[in-house]
Amino acid sequence: MVKPVILAVDDDASVLGAVERDLRQHYRADYRVMRAASGAEALETAKELAARSTPIALFLADQRMPGMTGIEMLRAVRQVHPSSRRVLLTAYADTDVAIAGINDIGLDHYLMKPWDPPEQRLYPVLDDLLSEWRSRVRPTFDGIRVVGSQWSPESFEAKEFLSRNRVPYEWVDIDADAAARALVKSVAGDVDKLPVVLFPDGTRLIAPTTIELATKAGLQTQANRPFYDVIVIGGGPAGLANALYAASEGLRTVLVESQAPGGQAGTSSMIENYLGFPAGVTGADLAGRAVAQARRFGAEIISAHKVVGLRREDPYRVVVLDDASELTAYAVVLATGMSARMLDAPGLAQLQGVGVYYGAAMTEAARYRAKDVCVVGGANSAGQGALFFSRYARRVTMLVRAPDLQPTMSRYLVDRIRSASNIDVINGVEVQAVTGNGSLETITVKSPERGDERAIPASAMFIFIGVKPHTEEFAGILERDEAGFLLTGAELPQEHGRPRGWTLERPPFMFETSIPGVFAAGDVRAGANRRVAAAVGEGSAAIHSVHRYLRTV
Ligand SMILES: Cc1cc2nc3c(=O)[nH]c(=O)nc-3n(C[C@H](O)[C@H](O)[C@H](O)COP(=O)(O)OP(=O)(O)OC[C@H]3O[C@@H](n4cnc5c(N)ncnc54)[C@H](O)[C@@H]3O)c2cc1C
Repeated sequence: MVKPVILAVDDDASVLGAVERDLRQHYRADYRVMRAASGAEALETAKELAARSTPIALFLADQRMPGMTGIEMLRAVRQVHPSSRRVLLTAYADTDVAIAGINDIGLDHYLMKPWDPPEQRLYPVLDDLLSEWRSRVRPTFDGIRVVGSQWSPESFEAKEFLSRNRVPYEWVDIDADAAARALVKSVAGDVDKLPVVLFPDGTRLIAPTTIELATKAGLQTQANRPFYDVIVIGGGPAGLANALYAASEGLRTVLVESQAPGGQAGTSSMIENYLGFPAGVTGADLAGRAVAQARRFGAEIISAHKVVGLRREDPYRVVVLDDASELTAYAVVLATGMSARMLDAPGLAQLQGVGVYYGAAMTEAARYRAKDVCVVGGANSAGQGALFFSRYARRVTMLVRAPDLQPTMSRYLVDRIRSASNIDVINGVEVQAVTGNGSLETITVKSPERGDERAIPASAMFIFIGVKPHTEEFAGILERDEAGFLLTGAELPQEHGRPRGWTLERPPFMFETSIPGVFAAGDVRAGANRRVAAAVGEGSAAIHSVHRYLRTV
């Protein structure tokens, strides 16, 4: 935790030196004693410390200073350090000013010069004020602080990105913290430029892009080598398993992930069917363990870069990233998975991130404590989401298009949902529209069968309505099925008794796509069994095919 500051301010160098000495002698163990030789310098220091999230516990300022008086300075710093204690050093003639200051700027105390002996005339007063300050102010978090609004989708995205990448941060809501709002205004010039992200070294980012945030938060965003044996695209369970096995078997391996390692599994509140975890494991925990394990074997994991292109330059495969940089390797494994399908209804786009969420936005659960929320969808992920949010929300209403939860949801989830006292299920409805002033308030659903509409008040809706594969970047380059999933091995479309466009004598290896040396594993592969264990299995097994391929180049 950061040591709070006591700031002494006086233009008279000998008085300032004496104050500083006395303060240090008594408070140096718990406070950092700083000095400023004018009101303007004090104001500057106060702003800098606020930007670094270092609290000033107490200002001790002389009234008589040229340019800016003590009272004027103490008034100005109230904006940036509203909870600091403020003490004025006065001469006898300034007593009236000091008394007026008590009403005017909430001055806590005035001390007559000289204050000797400090044991009687200085420390008892300051001890009282500081202990009162400590009782009201919580200790400052000594890490990254995300200052934003719960109504800002960009603030939500920054929080999601940091938490999914397991970067600890403190959330500061400008709607609940006047000092934070003032700070945003002073550094960003405007409270709409959100979030402001404050770093422990005193620097800050205003409304940062993902790559700016990732780089500043210390995540690896650039490859260390010009060339690899294998490039893995996507850091879900399949990609992580693939990178882990590749690196552990001595291959120079880099994994490129557009958001955060963990993939869909990383967003799961509790995975209960993964081998070896009888009590279940959260997706975040599983992802964190896998990342640590892959890195231990030497795999590089690059975050916040999307792969946007793939080229064949025999015998190399070239992968193009979203900043136009390129990575080259002998082999590429695509493990780009799939993601939630977006719901299309009036109002949804405007309220996304401020009440409307896709998937289990776990960082938001606590915000909806004791509120009413809806979960849209009727498959396993929706069931897990409903159970997770029922721990926080007053009531969870599931909006399901099908007439029954089964057969799309596993029996054990259906049983748990039916026995949960605060989960309702409405079957046979579709979302028509959502409305809300600044955040979600009402969801209108329609029953296509009965034709009737009803409005359901809700503070949040979490949507789980199916998936689409992440393969748009590879359309026209690799063979895909009708839904866009990648075709591999024996599944590749045949022409004249061999895969269409295939020029090699040998048939494609298992997991190999229509380009030799380019493999696909996990949910992105057509016909995959879309489960964590299956993705891990495919990612691990695909390395066997990579080895076979590497023997040919
Ligand atoms: C909410 C939820 C709960 C689930 N619960 C369970 C469960 O309890 N048990 C179970 O067995 N399964 C569960 N699943 C399914 C399971 O999570 C998936 O089957 C598994 O994550 C698939 O792994 P994957 O690596 O193939 O793909 P994904 O997990 O989808 O990972 C793909 C990764 O690739 C990245 N990516 C995509 N395109 C690019 C690109 N162009 N460049 C760079 N990176 C890219 C994505 O950001 C993503 O991180 C759940 C899924 C969800 C959504």
